[in-house]
Amino acid sequence: MEECIFCKIIKGQIPSTKIYEDDKTLAFLDIAPVNIGHALIIPKEHYANIYETPEDTMSDIIKVAKKISLAVKEAVKAEGVNITMNNNHAAGQVIFHSHIHVIPRFSNDGFELWHGKRAYEDDEMKSVAENITSKL
Ligand code: 5GP
Ligand code: ZN
Repeated sequence: MEECIFCKIIKGQIPSTKIYEDDKTLAFLDIAPVNIGHALIIPKEHYANIYETPEDTMSDIIKVAKKISLAVKEAVKAEGVNITMNNNHAAGQVIFHSHIHVIPRFSNDGFELWHGKRAYEDDEMKSVAENITSKL
């Protein structure tokens, strides 16, 4: 993927601040962090999003996210951590190379999560669940 920024980071064609690397994955600091220590974990092979990423590769990056979470927590004395993966424009994905965010959190750091809403009609939840399970 010639134009992919994260592929260029893997190849060393553009600089990054690396914190972990193995044969399949790379972790580096996000250039525009929610909080200091915000890290990104990426597979070395290019896949656009969770739909295209093989299960084994997802396992590789989530295992590294676990390691990085503990290290970041210690390093920046985080009070919590969010693990997120944005997939497609509608979900806020900007870089189309699969990545997991490890976001250290602090009380009152101003970063907001979603606000849930009442969305289901009477029996709708059951039929939505059945619809989803039928696709598994
Ligand atoms: P997304 O919204 O696609 O899940 O998040 C992409 C993330 O990559 C953003 O948080 C953004 O700050 C980060 N990012 C974009 N370009 C670069 C870059 O060149 N270097 C680094 N280290 N992070 C980047
Ligand atoms: Zn890429």
